Amino acid sequence: MPDALIRSRVIISPDELIKVKKHLGVSSIKNEIDASIPAGFLAEIGDKIFDFTIDINQASHRQKEYSIGRITLIGDGVAEADGLSEAMMGEIVEIEDKTRGLVLNLSVKSAGIVILGDNSRIKPGDLVKTTGRLLSIPVGQEVLGRVIDPLGQPLDGKPEFLPQKFNPLEKIAPGVMARQSVSVPLQTGIKAIDGMIPIGRGQRELIIGDRQTGKTSIALSTIINQKNEGVFCVYVAIGQKRSNIAQFIAVLEKFGAMSHTVVVAASASNSPAMQYLAPYAGCAIGEYFLEKGQDALVIYDDLSKHSWAYRQISLLLRRPSGREAYPGDIFYAHSRLLERSCRLNQKSGGGSLTAMPVIETQAGDLSAYIPTNVISITDGQIYLESDLFNSGQKPAINVGNSVSRVGGAAQIKAIKQVAGRLRLDLAQYRELQAFAQFASDLDERTKKDLNRGAKLTELLKQDRDDPMPVERQVVSIWAGTNGILDDLDLGKIKNFENHLLAYVERHNPEIFEKIAKEKLLSPETIEKLSKIVRDAKQVYIQEENGD
Ligand code: ATP
Ligand code: MG
Repeated sequence: MPDALIRSRVIISPDELIKVKKHLGVSSIKNEIDASIPAGFLAEIGDKIFDFTIDINQASHRQKEYSIGRITLIGDGVAEADGLSEAMMGEIVEIEDKTRGLVLNLSVKSAGIVILGDNSRIKPGDLVKTTGRLLSIPVGQEVLGRVIDPLGQPLDGKPEFLPQKFNPLEKIAPGVMARQSVSVPLQTGIKAIDGMIPIGRGQRELIIGDRQTGKTSIALSTIINQKNEGVFCVYVAIGQKRSNIAQFIAVLEKFGAMSHTVVVAASASNSPAMQYLAPYAGCAIGEYFLEKGQDALVIYDDLSKHSWAYRQISLLLRRPSGREAYPGDIFYAHSRLLERSCRLNQKSGGGSLTAMPVIETQAGDLSAYIPTNVISITDGQIYLESDLFNSGQKPAINVGNSVSRVGGAAQIKAIKQVAGRLRLDLAQYRELQAFAQFASDLDERTKKDLNRGAKLTELLKQDRDDPMPVERQVVSIWAGTNGILDDLDLGKIKNFENHLLAYVERHNPEIFEKIAKEKLLSPETIEKLSKIVRDAKQVYIQEENGD
């Protein structure tokens, strides 16, 4: 076996070969023809390839150095290779048939690789080489409106884009000195959230609940509402059914919300590797806007399926497993992802990246491993409940168990003014409700509080694709907490709310404008509001009686 194997398009003359031998510092050399090389040559020494080929299009020497190895084991989307002495953790490797893989395990003699793509043609003995590149994804304005996979390949049948820039999937989160505290609201358009569990730009707010409790719908509503808010949205679908993803995109298109949104999809039929990478890819796209000083929102739907995918990869790679068979670094996998969300200070551009991870619980169990992990990483959670959902309370938010630890600082004053009361009234209602089930005779005061609570709860119901601008929320909640709804039938609340908002729009639209501009309820505005709400109610009752 010669020390070096030289591959070239044509046989190299003996004189030239002696020069090459000297240059490479080897004692013996062999020359083979390889028609796939355009010009120049490849030198294979031990487990390394030195690339001296010439790119004819650019007339330049590549002069690269690879490390090579051979596949020793392959199956279930995971391979093991020997050699690859220079491979780095997280590096992309290329297998003989051009399939790419990602190095996720390294030991002295071998490397564990997850295959990114079709692995049916790969067999033991195939050549693998390092590329010197870490995994990255195309980013930029041109990805808006697109549906892509975690490697940046289009899934929507539209042409491939020519990205100006690539962002690495893994990146260290911005340090403390580059950050500032959350102070600008991220309006979801959902009354119950914006009123009582407010989210700020740069915050990480978890959406948690059992299956089919409206988790995705909250994300959908929030994305639709960003149309007028100037926040770019990245929706990451992990391990979902393709039909669900298609449905989601169809709704976004219907509301014209795709123009500020990019969907990164790794469906249930994609490999666990793709599902594992999806949230990091989504985050990398969001970071493009963050770094440009803009505001972005990333939704990870959902991180439970992400954990399953990561668990599967780790078990296949034969990493030791921990609690519930999840890999030991599952907490780190999620915390390093969510730490990348932040609000940068002015010196660093002032951009923000808000994260809304979604977690699916089993039978409402918040104390399972993955839910507790993610609860502890995020700045609060929106807790959805099956019981509420089934009883028709949609969105099914359990206000008592939901919190936002930093969003209050970002809430505009007007909504703070009206929602403080709302929170109190509802808390009282919950307490009385439990007690009133057993009592037969209730005093007037209790009856009144129960009635108010029921009306407010009804007021907080909202359709999944019907986000409401904050100034309208203020008017609506104001009416509720000031007893305007108390003597209306439960079934008429929604109707009355629509009537009220239309009435204000028609007669005093400046109230909305004032709230939106001043961001607070001044005594004059309250006076005006008080009058018009009562007028609207009178008209409503007259119309009702007239029918
Ligand atoms: P999964 O666990 O399957 O991901 P999910 O928790 O994401 O479910 P969704 O898909 O958002 O739940 O919602 C479940 C169903 O409830 C959907 O058919 C949706 O249309 C309906 N739904 C959700 N929110 C509302 C709402 N506010 N008003 C009316 N219907 C709603
Ligand atoms: Mg869902």
